[in-house]
Parts: sequence; structure tokens; C-alpha cells
Amino acid sequence: MLNLKPGDLISCKIQSSTIVIPYRKYDEIKTFTIVSATEHGYYVFVPHFYYLNGCVKVNSIRIKNLNIDKKYMDENIAYVQENFIFALVKKQDGLCCKICFEFFPYAVPNQEDKETLICYACRQRPNYNK
Ligand SMILES: [Zn+2]
Repeated sequence: MLNLKPGDLISCKIQSSTIVIPYRKYDEIKTFTIVSATEHGYYVFVPHFYYLNGCVKVNSIRIKNLNIDKKYMDENIAYVQENFIFALVKKQDGLCCKICFEFFPYAVPNQEDKETLICYACRQRPNYNK
């Protein structure tokens, strides 16, 4: 086991909106934030606008059973078996965008609460309402 914990970042290879095993051909590499660790893998946060096969919605039962932070209520999560992890994204200075969870090295908070970042791309989205 890699012994990752919620908040750690992993990257996976994506092919046709599905997480594929690392040696397969792929369309893109996507970084995800872990929200829950289980015996053989991890649940990761998937932003609403990012279509990924096999997502489930976080509800109160999953929050309890999987020990997921309540802030992920009604968000989508996906299960990633450990052997589907392409890489660990090293923890370094920077922040994840609160909306898309893209990691921005050396980024600093840009919201009024002084702890969250919303990236430029997300702030430009038509349905961004703040
Ligand atoms: Zn963003």
C-alpha cells in the first residue's frame, strides 16, 4: 500500500473518460485529490464539469462509511484502485483550485477567506458565480 491519505494528490491516465491502467494508451493525464483511503484503493474528488465514467455522488451514507469530509457532500467521487495510479503528485508549495482541483505550484489564496484559490480558468467559466 502507498499509505496515501485524504488531501494527497495522485495522477491517473484517462482514456475515453475512463481511468485506465498506467501502461495503457491514454488521452490525458489528470490529477485528482484523494478524499478517502480504503483497503485496496482510494476515492478521489471529481469536479462536476469533468466527465468521468464510474463516478458516484457523495451522500451522507458515504460520508459516514468512507469517512469523507462533509465539504464533499453532493460532489462526485471515483474509486481508483492502487494499481491504477499513474503517479503520486509530490506535495509542494502551492494550492489546488477549489473548483477544478487543478494543482498550481506556488499559488497563493485569492479568495476572501484567505485560504482558497480559484484559478483563472474557473473564474472565466460562464457559470462561475461568486
Ligand atoms: Zn480551477
